[in-house]
Amino acid sequence: MRVITKVKEMQKVADELRKEGKIIGVVPTMGYLHEGHLSLIRIAKEKSDVVITTIFVNPLQFAPNEDYDKYPRDLERDVKLAQSAGCDIIFHPSVEEMYPENFLTYVEVEKLTKVLEGEFRPTHFRGVTTVVAKLFNITKPHIAVFGQKDAQQALIIKQMVRDLNFDIEIIVAPIVRESDGLAMSSRNVYLSESERKDATVLYQSLKLAEKLIEESERNSGVIISKMEELIKSKPTAKIDYIAIVDPNTLEKVENLSEGKEYLIALAVRIGSTRLIDNTLVKI
Ligand code: AMP
Repeated sequence: MRVITKVKEMQKVADELRKEGKIIGVVPTMGYLHEGHLSLIRIAKEKSDVVITTIFVNPLQFAPNEDYDKYPRDLERDVKLAQSAGCDIIFHPSVEEMYPENFLTYVEVEKLTKVLEGEFRPTHFRGVTTVVAKLFNITKPHIAVFGQKDAQQALIIKQMVRDLNFDIEIIVAPIVRESDGLAMSSRNVYLSESERKDATVLYQSLKLAEKLIEESERNSGVIISKMEELIKSKPTAKIDYIAIVDPNTLEKVENLSEGKEYLIALAVRIGSTRLIDNTLVKI
């Protein structure tokens, strides 16, 4: 497997692949790969001839008080894992390669970026869309795979692709979880042993919401307060938000209607580790 670190070289390789008629699939990541990432690589492999995994901890999507410096990094391990899942090329640029001096252009999706994560991380999605637009121009893919784990991000990327006419098919892959339900995340390594146990409360609260809905509860306020109660039973947990929204507009919904689908999304800090999770529920 090839590791490419330079933009020009990556673009040349992508051009050559396209000239040979190869379908290129890209999986953008920040590295420290886990089964969630590998599932995306496997899906990309099924749908394309050549899979490029990008590994770049993007400073632009971290606020100054966030975990950019301590974000886990291990390229050697990532190379082995990516290869085992069928990845052909890793694109792993430096920060200077992606953001040379005098970088002045940003991509910003409106409205969808202001709610949920956007309320707590106001500059985050501008960083995400800017780097993903650049990665699309660098790897020149036909398809790109993102995870439902970051449901809002996937929706925003789809919006950007539509609005800016990127000729790329966006595939959204299901959330991969640990055996106790915790959604896999590179950030799970920050959790202490007891925090790791408490962290399962995110999934448990989503399961509780699903159960309440199955038992015919239709009032979002009631569902959310029961989720809150469960989460607050863990001493290390602090809720940033719990929301029940339309999965296409991210607008909050007060009363759930038959035949519709809803996204239940939450962000909870377990100690100093901020975790997100979500589920899609069809009524
Ligand atoms: P990250 O490295 O955290 O930026 O994630 C890179 C991609 O992997 C994003 O599209 C995420 O949504 C996706 N991803 C992260 N964790 C999971 C998971 N547990 N299941 C499925 N996809 C995931």
